[in-house]
Amino acid sequence: AALYRIDSWGAPYFMVNDSGNIVVRPHGASTLAHQEIDLLKVVKRVSDPKSVGGLGLQFPLIVRFPDVLKNRLESLQSAFESAVQAQAYGSHYQGVYPVKCNQDRFIVEDIVKFGSPFRFGLEAGSKPELLLAMNYLCKGNREALLVCNGFKDAEYISLALLARKLALNTVIVLEQEEEVKLVIEISKKLSVRPVIGLRAKLRTKHLGHFGSTSGEKGKFGLTTNQILRVVKELHGSGMLDCLQLLHFHIGSQIPSTDLLQEGVGEAAQIYSELVLLGANMKVIDIGGGLGIDYDGSKSGNSDLSVSYGLEEYASAVVNAIRAVCDRKSIKHPIICSESGRAIVSHNSILIFEAMDAAAPKIPTMNQINIPFIMEGLSEDARADYWNLSEAAMRHDNETCLFYADQLKQRCVERFKEGTLGIEQLGAVDGLFDLVTKTIGASEPVRTYLVNLSVFSSIPDSWSIGQVFPIVPIHRLDEKPTVKGVLFDLTCDSDGKIDKFIGGQTSLPLHELDSGSGGGGGGANGRYFLGMFLGGAYQEALGGFHNLFGGSSVVTVLQSDGPQSFAVTRAMPGSSCADVLRMMQHEPELMFDTLKHRAEEFCGFDVAALSGSIARSFHNMPYLELTSSCSLTALNNGGF
Ligand code: PLP
Repeated sequence: AALYRIDSWGAPYFMVNDSGNIVVRPHGASTLAHQEIDLLKVVKRVSDPKSVGGLGLQFPLIVRFPDVLKNRLESLQSAFESAVQAQAYGSHYQGVYPVKCNQDRFIVEDIVKFGSPFRFGLEAGSKPELLLAMNYLCKGNREALLVCNGFKDAEYISLALLARKLALNTVIVLEQEEEVKLVIEISKKLSVRPVIGLRAKLRTKHLGHFGSTSGEKGKFGLTTNQILRVVKELHGSGMLDCLQLLHFHIGSQIPSTDLLQEGVGEAAQIYSELVLLGANMKVIDIGGGLGIDYDGSKSGNSDLSVSYGLEEYASAVVNAIRAVCDRKSIKHPIICSESGRAIVSHNSILIFEAMDAAAPKIPTMNQINIPFIMEGLSEDARADYWNLSEAAMRHDNETCLFYADQLKQRCVERFKEGTLGIEQLGAVDGLFDLVTKTIGASEPVRTYLVNLSVFSSIPDSWSIGQVFPIVPIHRLDEKPTVKGVLFDLTCDSDGKIDKFIGGQTSLPLHELDSGSGGGGGGANGRYFLGMFLGGAYQEALGGFHNLFGGSSVVTVLQSDGPQSFAVTRAMPGSSCADVLRMMQHEPELMFDTLKHRAEEFCGFDVAALSGSIARSFHNMPYLELTSSCSLTALNNGGF
């Protein structure tokens, strides 16, 4: 476990049990021993059609833990409540969840339900997100905020105003100066008194990748002069009382509380000025940015790590706002945050299988045919060989490596010219590998093929080089003996993972079990890896490269039965037909075409052939690794 720093990034939700398996502690620190859930048992239950309650789902598989989600939400709330109390702050915290982080229906529903006792709301950044937020907040707390961000047209604004008519606590946040005119005009037409917020472009700049939209040149928000013009416009229309919220967002993964305090302090100054200009200010919305310590280092010096926890974050925010407001004798505002990553990252784990470790096969000295090699060598290459042999006698490793490398390069050149045959080149490569292995010059890194598409399941890994903790979910009581990088199934050289936490370019891994049955921590010879802390953004951003699609998803709740868990929801991942439909193909018509072709060319075999074509449309695009792992509804007609 120490090798993978599980205790650092995983606490309080993930740890390793005595059997060497990862267990999930769904209620965080207050989880009791008998409530811990062995992840491998979950994986076996949902993937093996023969186990009791087994579902036969294919990999990759996302396992969601709503109890973890609840714990994150409550921990954030209680961090702010403690800070408010400790600093005698005169108002309260009331957060919203930015649905863009993960719009999954059940995640949004759960957040509204779990957050209802403390008025937790939603943030939307587009029209479909607004429709979604309106729908779920109908079941939420009446005071929960519905924050409408993003670029807006008349339809977006009308919809947001309609939400106010539906008694949803909706705030239209102006991202662009022009939006104010539309809001004034449409709200008058619809006879709705809007609640308006504005997004300020702060001077405080977050320098990491996620801060590229912050600062004066950022993509979003209003400059000081634009803010002043909007205030004037609202005043002129008799609507300055509608301006009630100030929003800013300096970027995701804010690395330190120093930067946070600087940004919040600057925003609090703008907030106070708006109060003094006569706006009816009530809420300061500090945006997202509450970070995740992906590598557990708490260093705060890269996009991978932040140097604070929930308590320090909340305390810094409350302190920065209080200090400014007190100095200007302004009533303390309600504090809203749009924390997304911090709420949903922990609740989903992506499980995938490693299949094939291409171990370089290094020959022994006996297997190398020196006379055969010598036969094909040029004079200078032969001299390299003799120099290499002499250096080997003297145990002079550096010289050995020099001549081995020179010999190999000369042979490659001659192969390219066409004067050296492929078998001789292969023999020279073998000799080179043996030399480097013998003198310990290279520790070979193996490639593990994983039944996954990085583009579909971990898009930030290839698009922005984000690193997530990846760990075998079992065999953690066995020392890993191999270093590996992960290659995915796509026909794309970017479809790989070769950066891991701790700045590592390979991951400590175990040898794959060749047989089935025993070993492998009870996984029947299979080897499962988990990608942790990926509940935010990855599902929403995932694409369909090579037509690999979404993972199977299961929801797991802690239960007090003998198994300590219950699978409450299971969804197979996208089938081949599903992903084809995404690109406007029509699987039913495609199937008919292929069936007619079979009738034309394969007469008597038609039934079997069309059955197997139908199965291919129906199954997921990923590799099916066990013959028994067939999806339940195989022969249910359509796909
Ligand atoms: N609010 C806004 C306006 C954002 O742009 C974002 C994401 O970048 C968020 C909230 C969520 O940020 P995070 O996931 O860092 O909490």
